[in-house]
Amino acid sequence: MELQTQFVDVIIPQAIPGLLTYRVPRSTEFPVKIGQRVVVPLGKSKLLAGIIRHVHTSAPRKYEAKYLESILDENPVINEQQLLLWEWIASYYCCTLGEVMNAALPSGLKLSSETKFALNIDFEDQPWSTKEETVINAMRARGRMTVQDVSEVLELKNVMPILRDLIKKGVINSEEEIREKFKPKLVEYLKLGPIANTDEKLQIVFAELEKRKAQKQSDALMVFLRLSEWDQGRNAEVERLKLQKEQIVSGTVSAMIDKQIFELHTKEIGRLPQHLMASDKPKALSEAQQNALNSIESLWKEKDVCLLHGVTSSGKTEIYAALIEKALAENKQVLFLLPEIALTTQIIHRLRKFFGKRVGVYHSGYSDNERTEVWQKVLSNIPGECDVILGARSALFLPFTRLGLIIVDEEHEHSFKQHDPAPRYHARDTALWLARQTNANVLLGSATPAIESFWNATQNRYGLVTLSERYGAMELPEVVLCDLRIDIKAKTLKNNFSAKLFEEMKTAVEAGEQVILFQNRRGYSPLWECQTCGWIPTCTRCDVSLTYHKQAALLKCHYCGYSTPPVVSCQACGSRDMKMLGFGTEKIEEDLAEFLPDVKVQRMDLDTTRSKSSYQKIISDFEGGYTSILVGTQMVTKGLDFDNVSLVGILNADKMMNYPDFRSIERSFQIMTQVAGRAGRKKKRGRVLIQTYNPEHWLLDMVIKGDYNAFYEKEIKERYQFSYPPFMRLMKITIKHKEENVAERAATAISKLLQPQLTDRILGPEKPYIPRINNYYLQQFLIRLDKKAESAELKHRIIEQIRDVLMTTEFKQVRLSVDVDPV
Ligand code: ADP
Ligand code: ZN
Ligand code: ZN
Repeated sequence: MELQTQFVDVIIPQAIPGLLTYRVPRSTEFPVKIGQRVVVPLGKSKLLAGIIRHVHTSAPRKYEAKYLESILDENPVINEQQLLLWEWIASYYCCTLGEVMNAALPSGLKLSSETKFALNIDFEDQPWSTKEETVINAMRARGRMTVQDVSEVLELKNVMPILRDLIKKGVINSEEEIREKFKPKLVEYLKLGPIANTDEKLQIVFAELEKRKAQKQSDALMVFLRLSEWDQGRNAEVERLKLQKEQIVSGTVSAMIDKQIFELHTKEIGRLPQHLMASDKPKALSEAQQNALNSIESLWKEKDVCLLHGVTSSGKTEIYAALIEKALAENKQVLFLLPEIALTTQIIHRLRKFFGKRVGVYHSGYSDNERTEVWQKVLSNIPGECDVILGARSALFLPFTRLGLIIVDEEHEHSFKQHDPAPRYHARDTALWLARQTNANVLLGSATPAIESFWNATQNRYGLVTLSERYGAMELPEVVLCDLRIDIKAKTLKNNFSAKLFEEMKTAVEAGEQVILFQNRRGYSPLWECQTCGWIPTCTRCDVSLTYHKQAALLKCHYCGYSTPPVVSCQACGSRDMKMLGFGTEKIEEDLAEFLPDVKVQRMDLDTTRSKSSYQKIISDFEGGYTSILVGTQMVTKGLDFDNVSLVGILNADKMMNYPDFRSIERSFQIMTQVAGRAGRKKKRGRVLIQTYNPEHWLLDMVIKGDYNAFYEKEIKERYQFSYPPFMRLMKITIKHKEENVAERAATAISKLLQPQLTDRILGPEKPYIPRINNYYLQQFLIRLDKKAESAELKHRIIEQIRDVLMTTEFKQVRLSVDVDPV
């Protein structure tokens, strides 16, 4: 019987709309399976690794299928459930599967788009063509080479046929790089060799060493026996490094390996911490917490999703721990999503105390190898290892097979949404979809739920459980306003501190208590202004003012990364009278050093937390009481649990409330309430001071009262009135071009096409708040969509139409980005 040719449809990690079909060679390394990684050619000279999505026998009609180059995995690394998730994201968020793939795979499993080739060590010599000879010699000299490199050496454009031949002949290898990317960590260890592995043999060896006066080797053997707690018959082993730590030089050991006194072995060990033992049981819940837990569980019988609205410090984390314990007892996997890495350090610690190494951490602050290892652990699905995954949004993409519970902590957080690049997905919403697919329960937790989530709860789509008291009957903090206008009149401002905030801060610190200060701007000063003509230094590539960073001695753009030394005189009129307006966290830190020189202050913002360990250090210094005042951006507002904070200062409430966005009120309420919630969690009632020029603002009144419901009622009415979410869905379309008039003309063309169809559903085109970023001029549309099913189709139709407009030569260089449910 003639075997039919097989074809595979492959997901390519690029922004290509569809899948590409490849022909499977008659003989392959492994049989093809869905979810395997394969290397495939793309275009003239590129080799890429993609994922097999379908296996079939029908040749593509529109093009001649190329052969796939090689198969990388014997068994799939991506399961069907994951592929369905990718497809949902691509469809809902209007992006390509390749873009989702890029976000989903840890780079340890990804292949560089420019795959490298290297010589195999043991290929057979045979007569070569001149070109082959050249390639082989070049690789001998240079090691790995990309297609591009080979192309340059041969001065030839299409080198693929030559490389392919060399692969076939077993001379070079395209996968090496790929396989090597994830390197398990190896350790060397020693065992007793064949001449020394019993007590009798050992005695002979010792006698021999003594006779030859080989004192060092004799010592080494003694140390080995001690470290291995030698007991005949047991297969004793000692890490080679441990001997070195005992002052045994490596050369001595090598000599003994040669003599077969020792045998050298290597062993793969995990990078994930091994020493983690669960040391504690989850805490006994208070009555209120137990009631909440019971309600959650009984609501889950009817609804998959529960919203836990628990005030700050009500002990939501303890409830999560209890639910995780139950899920594990049922042999389920748990996904615990957090919006930001800053939060994970404390929670990791809290959960590891209960669940030990069952807790795996997965987020971008971890190295690729660490992430790949967690991925492999989840894939291999060993009960008791990595079955509680704590992570940021990318953890959604892990190869779960028995997911039973997803917890989304701080579910209101905007950083659950990915902004750039595509896929612009919302991790909470994606988690809801994933949970439906896998029959997992979902718990959304927050002290300040997102308007959308609370709406869903009021509509009975989610169960709602409320915890309105803090654990241990601690009172919620008292919130007080500081009217900055009074300070200005009375001339009592100390730089950016009102007299009241300054005095209370001093008192608190003197009493041995701690203070958190929140300012939502990093850097020293966001604005310099010439006092003569009003000139402001702005980014050369973006329409934003540059922020002065004093320590770095630079003016920096927070949008594109551009930086330049600070100006001493006005670039417009030459005046030297430049004044700094506004202030960031760096300035606050400096003011504190000046006014309270003996007080230990630390700053937590993007500039001070570039590495995983810097977060940890700042947090543990504050936890340990080494630091008295913590100054920070929104990073200090969420989730952190400190015992000794009695005072929280919000340095400027006005800026956030006035930001031109329909969510700025919601966001301001959340940020203020959350940061306030860091105060007075354990010892005595905390206090929160909010500095403002506008103390009459209704929102501040709600923050003072801690009245979420009042805030919600007011906000939901606005949303209804202006047809904002949750009543409609939004899709933001941004186009950009290096020339302003091209961007404008393209926007007009799009508008002409869509306006008649969408009428009042389309807003724009308009320039966004920041009209130029990184030398691109932006134009934006906002499209309102119904929540009905047909809107899914409409979304794609609109985007197709826009793409058609942008296909014309005039607009070829216009870039398009689509953001569904923008936040
Ligand atoms: P939330 O997440 O709601 O802000 P946490 O879970 O951080 O609150 O709890 C606040 C503090 O109270 C934490 O230090 C926590 O350990 C403590 N706590 C909460 N519930 C209990 C409990 N049942 N037993 C002991 N301590 C608790
Ligand atoms: Zn000037
Ligand atoms: Zn810029």
